Amino acid sequence: MTSPAADQPLRLGRNPGLQISHDALDRQTLTPMLQHYADMKDQYPHALLLYRVGDFYETFFQDACTIARELELVLTGKEGGKDIGRIAMAGVPHHALERYCRQLVEKGYAIAICDQVEDPAQAQGLVKREVTRIFTPGTVLDEGLLQPRKNNFLAAVILAGTHWGLAYADVSTGEFLTTQDQDRDQLHQELTRLQPSEILLASEAPDLNRLLRPGEGGDLLPEGLPTQFCYTLRPMADFHHPEARQRLLETFGVRSLEGLGCERLTLATRAAGGLLGYLADTHRGQPIPLQTLSTYQLTNYLILDQQTRRNLELTQTSRDGTFQGSLLWAIDRTCTAMGGRLLRRWLLQPLLDIKGIQDRQATIQELISQTHLRQEIHRHLQHIYDLERLAGRAGSGTANARDLVALRDSFDTLLKLAPILATAQSSYLTALKTLPPELEHLGDVLHGTLVESPPIALMEGGLIRPGANSDLDQHRQQLEQDRQWFVTLESHERERTGINSLKVGFNKAAGYHISISRSKNQAPPPDYIRKQTLTNEERYITAELKEREARLMTLQADIHNLEYEIFLELRNAVAAQASLIRQIATAVASIDALWGLADVAIYQGYTCPELVENRELFITGGRHPVVEQALPIGFFVPNDTHLGGIADLMILTGPNASGKSCYLRQVGLIQLLAQIGSFVPAQASKLGICDRIFTRVGAVDDLATGQSTFMVEMNETANILNHATPKSLVLLDEIGRGTATFDGLAIAWSVAEYLAMTIQARTIFATHYHELNELASLLSNVVNYQVVVKELPDEIIFLHQVQPGGADRSYGIEAGRLAGLPPSVIQRARQVMQQIEQHSKIALGLRKTGPNSSRTTQPATKVHQGQLFSYEL
Ligand code: ADP
Repeated sequence: MTSPAADQPLRLGRNPGLQISHDALDRQTLTPMLQHYADMKDQYPHALLLYRVGDFYETFFQDACTIARELELVLTGKEGGKDIGRIAMAGVPHHALERYCRQLVEKGYAIAICDQVEDPAQAQGLVKREVTRIFTPGTVLDEGLLQPRKNNFLAAVILAGTHWGLAYADVSTGEFLTTQDQDRDQLHQELTRLQPSEILLASEAPDLNRLLRPGEGGDLLPEGLPTQFCYTLRPMADFHHPEARQRLLETFGVRSLEGLGCERLTLATRAAGGLLGYLADTHRGQPIPLQTLSTYQLTNYLILDQQTRRNLELTQTSRDGTFQGSLLWAIDRTCTAMGGRLLRRWLLQPLLDIKGIQDRQATIQELISQTHLRQEIHRHLQHIYDLERLAGRAGSGTANARDLVALRDSFDTLLKLAPILATAQSSYLTALKTLPPELEHLGDVLHGTLVESPPIALMEGGLIRPGANSDLDQHRQQLEQDRQWFVTLESHERERTGINSLKVGFNKAAGYHISISRSKNQAPPPDYIRKQTLTNEERYITAELKEREARLMTLQADIHNLEYEIFLELRNAVAAQASLIRQIATAVASIDALWGLADVAIYQGYTCPELVENRELFITGGRHPVVEQALPIGFFVPNDTHLGGIADLMILTGPNASGKSCYLRQVGLIQLLAQIGSFVPAQASKLGICDRIFTRVGAVDDLATGQSTFMVEMNETANILNHATPKSLVLLDEIGRGTATFDGLAIAWSVAEYLAMTIQARTIFATHYHELNELASLLSNVVNYQVVVKELPDEIIFLHQVQPGGADRSYGIEAGRLAGLPPSVIQRARQVMQQIEQHSKIALGLRKTGPNSSRTTQPATKVHQGQLFSYEL
């Protein structure tokens, strides 16, 4: 377990000096209950064990300290046994268990609930107890713990040298995927993409300690995982190939893993089988709520590493981690939670396959051109609930009647939506042109069985519609008749006794009674039995009253039980169709995601990019999808980009705040949007498929891992140079700024050269080192661009226009002047700058480039890409 908030103080009760570990204690000397507790704890070492004692769920030893700290409970103590002294104890009342469990799971803890499984009154000796439920961050189904528009992934990792297998599942939606690869770095990238809330590892993994260096994240747990997650150690036997394979075969009822795609992928099979083994434990006999397993390959998708996801602000902003201001925020117009989750997954896993991209584009195109179709789809999507998770809850036996009503209403909507989709042409829309008859029938059954708006509680009746079940109808009729007897009792008794003040009352504690006012001093009939004397009245019962009351109560309980049974039958009928419901949910999610992209395309003026297999990256009038939404309409200045034809590397210079970073990111975002199948914010575009997008932006000290600005910068740059290919897009915003000017410039120069000559990746390199403009005169595939500004006597006007040519200055001193630095400081800065420029020219022997001049300067030795060359600095 990770131990969040371990530094918070404990609120100690009156018993400091408590034993907090049972490891070193002689088990035989513990009390029998604590011996049993310690044995159970051995079986669940990575979970907090909540152990039922009387009306409380207690924890002992270290677990007690943990829950006392996390839940702000008082840590108390209890006699541990002979010569043991007092041991730490903390507990929660049984009726508040769910609330506390939820808090603990939210903080990243796994919890095992150990219940009494025999009646304590009947027990001889120690009450029998067993672990009956396990809650873990990766397996929860509780609506309150899940984010509607985000998957909650449980991952399993198996390592063999540098090779690894990774399986992941979302138990709430049924998705289950597995893969394997041999680059440990890719494993990090996958884990940070998935953001699992729980990771399973084999407890005997050879380098476990190094992998899980506590507090540092270790080798396996890279920076960038969610702060609240847990890892759970599992026996290695769970991950052995024959057993893991067998478990997969049995769970999915297949004879070979060929159809699932992993027959020959041993590590992928082991990870997936290990994950299933864990679910079998946590679900304790319940069916495992996963759809079929899919095997995927990392090479099927555009690879985005953690830095790039962060720098391009795909799902959250890099500055403060908010959703607002991210790309997903700008393009997510989905109506359903399923559509929202899918769009997020698409964004983090863009495609490489042009056909797959074009299928999505065709659907968006159809939705844009068919206004009526688009509006009708939208009208209906708004009434479809989260089918994936509803099916999951039905399958796991946690759905309530309102969940089933949500399903019923969604089926109604789908029945209306399907004929509309049947009129469409594109594959995503026609995938749902009919609702399967099984679901139509299930919808009818739900209609015929459940009342319009049932209560949440399942054991208190009011769920089932009249006419749904003849036994229930009879019981209800009988109940009504019996109630009538009570309704007429008052008038009947008044008439019989002649006592006009007589009343029939009911209260929860005492049930029905007849009350007579004391002021009138009227004598009750002889069959009245006095029950209670109050200040103003006497309360009586009669034998018949009690008999009828008992019958009424029994009948009421029978009706509640019968309603519950009918509900369970209904829920099982839904569970039997869970996999079909999820198939439909997948189709709805895609339609919703594409509907949202069509909507953005219309309202933000996006166009359809042409995807090609070569390396072209031609954008006319490109815009930044997020910045343009933050600015008033028409304020954003569109810019062109041409790479992959004559030029591979663009050196981009320009003053501070002129728009370099924005331009750089907009190119990355347009490419990425194109590869998820979306239209893009550009007038026109022709884009070669990218295998990876790399970014290196700004300079931030990574204090959490103790790395300096410069080391972070160099690590990221090394990663790019070691992995980029000619099909990659590399976006560099400053290199070498974290060190002294000369070695920084030298590194920037050689990095640019390596990218342009050796790798020949399409690259945009934004820099303040104007000296790099010289490269364009030395290498034929390098071009210079600048973001231009208009200089007025007292101010600089930012035009945000990217034009050919290199800027010769950064206007940093002007920016300082505008910001209000004292005039004497500004004047001195100008002097110093002149001197530095003089020196650097001497030292580097480089010509300074003026605007638009670099292409015309004659290099000492003109070189061509790919050739070995030398030239003088
Ligand atoms: P730099 O990287 O050159 O310091 P930025 O890219 O951070 O500059 O841009 C500074 C600000 O200029 C952005 O926050 C944005 O508001 C604005 N900006 C950038 N590009 C454009 C553009 N093309 N059109 C309009 N405003 C822009």
